[in-house]
Amino acid sequence: MSGTVWTIVVAAGSGQRFGRPKQFEDLGGRTVLEWSRAVAADCSDGVVLVLPASEVRPGDPHTVAGGSTRSESVRHGLAAVPADAEIVCVHDAARPFASADLFRSVIDAVRSGADGVVPALPVADTIKVVSPDGRVLHTPDRASLVSIQTPQAFRAQVLRAVHAAGGEGTDDASLVEAHGYSVITVPGERRNRKITHPDDLAWARAEVGE
Ligand code: C5P
Repeated sequence: MSGTVWTIVVAAGSGQRFGRPKQFEDLGGRTVLEWSRAVAADCSDGVVLVLPASEVRPGDPHTVAGGSTRSESVRHGLAAVPADAEIVCVHDAARPFASADLFRSVIDAVRSGADGVVPALPVADTIKVVSPDGRVLHTPDRASLVSIQTPQAFRAQVLRAVHAAGGEGTDDASLVEAHGYSVITVPGERRNRKITHPDDLAWARAEVGE
């Protein structure tokens, strides 16, 4: 597979946990979103930005308004990806430090035959499954757990098919898995941290010498 690669950068969240839309915060003189968009553009034939409706640039077919959930935002982005794209990556705008090597790694693994590819890191903490009222239900073996990042890369026809069926997930691979397609992992990057809380932004600013 050697066809075109498009990346959807999802940036339409309201930043509930952060307190405001974190993707528009300054990080070393440009926005968090601009960092994410730039690496995606370096590694793809084209980029679709999914933005809050108020930020969409009229007349630009590659910026689209997001939806009320992340999965809905990805669906809006997919609708703007050209039909001949063979590989589609989805990247969270909130991860400004994903490297070009990481993009290349997930894309190459799709070219080698995987339906979907996700970056993974081992987890340091013990993870427990709990009930809504906080009662511990069970403790999975930590050795079998990984923490998943973006960019995630997919065969375009697979990603389109699973999103056409609807569904919600905190990432795209979960929808692809649920439909029985193969998803594999590649090593993630510790620096590819998602900016979720204000202390994540403070860390990111320190990384760029602010
Ligand atoms: O909420 P979470 O941190 O998982 O969001 C991951 C990414 O998805 C963020 O970059 C956020 O802007 C984006 N998002 C979106 N549309 C939504 C919710 C989240 O584009 N409705």
